[in-house]
Amino acid sequence: VGVFFRPLDKIAAVIETYPRGIAGFRRYQELLATEPEIADSPDAVAAPPLRGAIRFEGVSFAYDDGRPTLHDIDLAVRPGETLAFVGPSGAGKTTLLALVPRFYDPTAGRITIDGLPLAAMTIQSLRRQIGIVSQDVFLFGGTLRENIAYGRLGATEAEIVRAAKQAQLGPMIAALPEGLDTVVGERGVMLSGGQKQRVAIARVFLKNPPILILDEATSALDTETEREIQSALDALAVGRTTLIIAHRLATIRHADRIVVMEAGRITEIGSHGELAGSGGRYARLNAAV
Ligand code: ATP
Repeated sequence: VGVFFRPLDKIAAVIETYPRGIAGFRRYQELLATEPEIADSPDAVAAPPLRGAIRFEGVSFAYDDGRPTLHDIDLAVRPGETLAFVGPSGAGKTTLLALVPRFYDPTAGRITIDGLPLAAMTIQSLRRQIGIVSQDVFLFGGTLRENIAYGRLGATEAEIVRAAKQAQLGPMIAALPEGLDTVVGERGVMLSGGQKQRVAIARVFLKNPPILILDEATSALDTETEREIQSALDALAVGRTTLIIAHRLATIRHADRIVVMEAGRITEIGSHGELAGSGGRYARLNAAV
């Protein structure tokens, strides 16, 4: 994990709006420049406010090298549901979720949200309704306030403060002499991995999207940090359709359903209770933990 290219980090970059002229913007541009462009279809319209019923219908996908990565995926996600995607490295979890914000388009089949094909919506109106928290959080050289406000340009001070609290950043900000005015990054205070993740969570609280994609950290965090991030993420997921690439057992057990993927296919799907008793791969993995 994390050894090779991780599309979700790039999606997270693509999906947020870029304040122009801020330090670090260039890096984003470079990141974006490496990715294929997906254009709006000529008759695309702005998506209405989405409830988040996501359907994958016979979705297959191959990267440019032509190697098939996803095979004929059928999956219906209920609005507000939390799904945990598990499976070995390379199974296609990241790739599948990368199709939702149209970072790539399926090579066959289609994806709909609330019955509307993704291809019928403008990419901007779609991505505005998807929040992403990936493993690598990008902070630009600026204040904490600016870094959080990046979740939704034009947010008020009160909204920024509330998002910071919701993301469990309150105590950290209170402990900094300059609070939200603290400059972070290379020229300022270096944040820990866990603190950076909470900044990313605060951005998504501010954005308030109906759909959430989470790439759970695989790196070891101390118990305290993990608990703080977990409770912030749990709060974030409430009332949103949430798709998680899950690595932690607690996340997996608490998901409404678990989707087991192997070699580009869904091999099992069900609640923890259902799968644990099914005698399948999940049951074996679960027994081994
Ligand atoms: P992990 O848990 O390690 O992140 P994953 O289940 O998320 O794994 P993906 O990252 O979706 O799996 O990878 C699925 C397959 O697609 C792998 O064989 C991977 O090498 C390949 N792949 C991923 N990104 C690209 C890319 N940009 N170009 C070509 N192949 C890619």
